[in-house]
Amino acid sequence: MIEALLATAMRTPKALTHAQMVSLLACDQTDALFQAAYRVKCETLGKRVHLRGLVEQGNFCSKDCYYCGIRKSNRAVERYALCSDDVIRMALWSYEQGYGSVVLQSGELASEEHTRQVEHILMELNRATQGQLGITLCLGEQNEETYRRWKAAGAHRYLLRMETSNPVLYAQLHPADHRFEARKQCLMMLQQIGYQVGSGVMIGLPGQTLDDLANDILFYTNLDLDMIGMGPYIPHADTPLGAGLTLDDDFRKRQLILGLKMIAVTRLQLHDVNIAATTALQALDEEGREKGLLAGANVIMPNVTDVQYRANYQLYANKPCLDENAAKCRNCLQWRVQSIGEEITWGERGDPLHFTKKDSRHVLKTNTRHRL
Ligand code: SAH
Ligand code: SF4
Repeated sequence: MIEALLATAMRTPKALTHAQMVSLLACDQTDALFQAAYRVKCETLGKRVHLRGLVEQGNFCSKDCYYCGIRKSNRAVERYALCSDDVIRMALWSYEQGYGSVVLQSGELASEEHTRQVEHILMELNRATQGQLGITLCLGEQNEETYRRWKAAGAHRYLLRMETSNPVLYAQLHPADHRFEARKQCLMMLQQIGYQVGSGVMIGLPGQTLDDLANDILFYTNLDLDMIGMGPYIPHADTPLGAGLTLDDDFRKRQLILGLKMIAVTRLQLHDVNIAATTALQALDEEGREKGLLAGANVIMPNVTDVQYRANYQLYANKPCLDENAAKCRNCLQWRVQSIGEEITWGERGDPLHFTKKDSRHVLKTNTRHRL
């Protein structure tokens, strides 16, 4: 039965029902599942991996998500904020190394000063690279004007994880003033403004079921997302959700397998989106990211933040590469990607095919309308 399901999903995008996704997520035939998803990835997008240099701009955050190591109530964290010149230097280093894109990520801040700083960074990066560098923002919920200003200043993509598509579970993971609907509205606003939009969930959360995970994939489908960034939940001891949970070998293995299965089923459902093999996979298994690629992911986000800041940007425990500088990471990554027979698309922006197709349909429609 699993073989028949895989064959249908490989042939036709968006063919899986909720119940079929649950069966795939529950199945023990992981090799067959991963191979099927990897074949879809290779046939749709080639044996190619896009890189995004990740700049962790700062760990000040106005929010208090119960699972996150840099939540505002965690007094054990030393707070930092990079100056604009440092962010620009790290992003341009990535560009010069041939990483076609960068991701600027931080805790959530909403102030005119912050909006203006990001605007300045975006304009400088676009000027210095003649608009060649792909820029993704991952700076949380903002108002429409801020999203518009950042788009006008040169950002291309925005990553905002829903964390879960189940509003009840969402409410258990966040204080009452962190609102599920408000976050969802942000995703729709970002799409209307014209960003390439990505979202995702944490996988293996306490209280989360396979039903929830299948619904998460339907949520990606219904929202018509361009990019998926999701990873296993990893407890952090200094958080309400993570206190008392131990990261033993069994737990790691379970989280890793579930994370890989989610990548595979998402790829079988959404053939042409970009899917990241996130760092959380690598925190559970040294080869977690390569395994993610072989389960259908096509993007890796190497950390390019100066080593001195990394220990203070621990969203979860056991974060890898805390003491490896960006140049060392680059070599290690190239070797790792080549070792599984994939190729890094040096110097390419790596826009999601899903978005490019939508965009060309839109241009075609607009041109036709002008001619009439
Ligand atoms: N503040 C921004 C971006 C930084 S947090 C935002 O929240 O959108 C980026 C992501 O880290 C979050 O969306 C969440 O999915 C992930 N994260 C936080 N704590 C985590 C944990 N304990 N395990 C796994 N992922 C975690
Ligand atoms: Fe802040 Fe993002 Fe962590 Fe929530 S997940 S506490 S918004 S950094």
